[in-house]
Amino acid sequence: MTAAAPEDDDLEALRRSIGDPRRWTVVIDFDGTLAPIVDHPDRAAPAPGAIEAIEDLARVCEVALLSGRALDDLVARLGRTPPGVLLVGGHGSEARHPDGTRTALTDLDAATAALDEVEATIRPLVDETAGWIVERKATSVAVHHRRVTPTEVDRILPEVRRALEGATSSAPGFVVLDGKAVVELRVRGTDKGVALRWILDRAAARADLLPGRPDIKPLVFGDDTTDEDAFEVALELGGQAVRIDELPSATSARFRLRDPGRVVTLLRDVRDALGPDPSVGTPRAAWDASDAGGTQAR
Ligand SMILES: [Mg+2]
Repeated sequence: MTAAAPEDDDLEALRRSIGDPRRWTVVIDFDGTLAPIVDHPDRAAPAPGAIEAIEDLARVCEVALLSGRALDDLVARLGRTPPGVLLVGGHGSEARHPDGTRTALTDLDAATAALDEVEATIRPLVDETAGWIVERKATSVAVHHRRVTPTEVDRILPEVRRALEGATSSAPGFVVLDGKAVVELRVRGTDKGVALRWILDRAAARADLLPGRPDIKPLVFGDDTTDEDAFEVALELGGQAVRIDELPSATSARFRLRDPGRVVTLLRDVRDALGPDPSVGTPRAAWDASDAGGTQAR
């Protein structure tokens, strides 16, 4: 990671660098990027104009949303599903194609069984009235202890960690991750970098059918540390990344947007920079469920 990303002014350079729309696949995070951060995750909603901006973008290039939220939760938060947009949830564990069909990118049945077992072990270990929070997602169990006293953390956390580590060898394979006042058991291989490669494979398969077989490059928008995996893959593949962040956090993104309120404007700028509808047909063909890999879930 580099120490600090450039300032907003350099977004002009980003706009200039976007030429041929066929070259770009735009991948956008949800919370903190499309949706302003709110006190409770259940109240998150797209910023005004965000869905319309995505719909416009999807007319000129491939667009995917890539969120840590479970897919059903992401769909519910969106309010309405923008046509032609690929939705990827759970840090890349599950995808919803524009026609409504879904692809499981990890063995969710095996993950569910192992996570159920871990969750059942951990809940009795921690006292939620003392501030512990056990957060269950489709591909992870996270134990938060920000509001727990240090003495209590010292006493209980080793036991919690032992339970999580005891499950790492269960199918489909897990890792234990440490964050700020949180320890998490997550399905191995479900990060946004892995997800971005899968998304780009879909887009590239379509590009092979186009005149000139243009290279597909990712343009990734995100606001958080979990987006950094996608940023790194984007740059490795010759693409670009934009970190939306009011604070000067370390990031590998080349561009930074300090005002989250300007995301919609920037997406519109990107759409304008891509120019008029290209003569290559509808981009959404890239997101057809057929030949998507993974396991057809629905
Ligand atoms: Mg986010």
